[in-house]
Amino acid sequence: MAGKNAESKPVPNTYCDFCLGDAANNKKTNKPEELISCTDCGRSGHPSCLQFTPNIMMSVKKYPWQCIECKTCRFCGTSENDDQLLFCDDCDRGYHMYCLTPKLQEAPEGNWSCHLCTKEIHGEKKENETQ
Ligand SMILES: [Zn+2]
Ligand SMILES: [Zn+2]
Ligand SMILES: [Zn+2]
Ligand SMILES: [Zn+2]
Repeated sequence: MAGKNAESKPVPNTYCDFCLGDAANNKKTNKPEELISCTDCGRSGHPSCLQFTPNIMMSVKKYPWQCIECKTCRFCGTSENDDQLLFCDDCDRGYHMYCLTPKLQEAPEGNWSCHLCTKEIHGEKKENETQ
């Protein structure tokens, strides 16, 4: 089995869709900032222009990130019922409320983390129970 990825990928844009700056210059901050590119359409943006949290910035380097236009549910792989689509506040992955186990009846208020991030970022170990 050749493990090569035969899918044709879009060429990532070299400019930010929001401030129109590039990796050498974020036009909002006037500082260099690495661009993150959508794996599906190649649209790029500065993490700060996308209002990513530090956790999201870390996470999106580890998986093929999709922009808000291309975002699909990690479970069913579709973008249908986008009003039911939740975005993880720690990795920006998308999930349908009805694809989660257990299902969510309504969108959680405030921050929401997916199962992957709950494990990876927030840790499974309980060092103490203070919350
Ligand atoms: Zn930008
Ligand atoms: Zn996209
Ligand atoms: Zn789904
Ligand atoms: Zn997550």
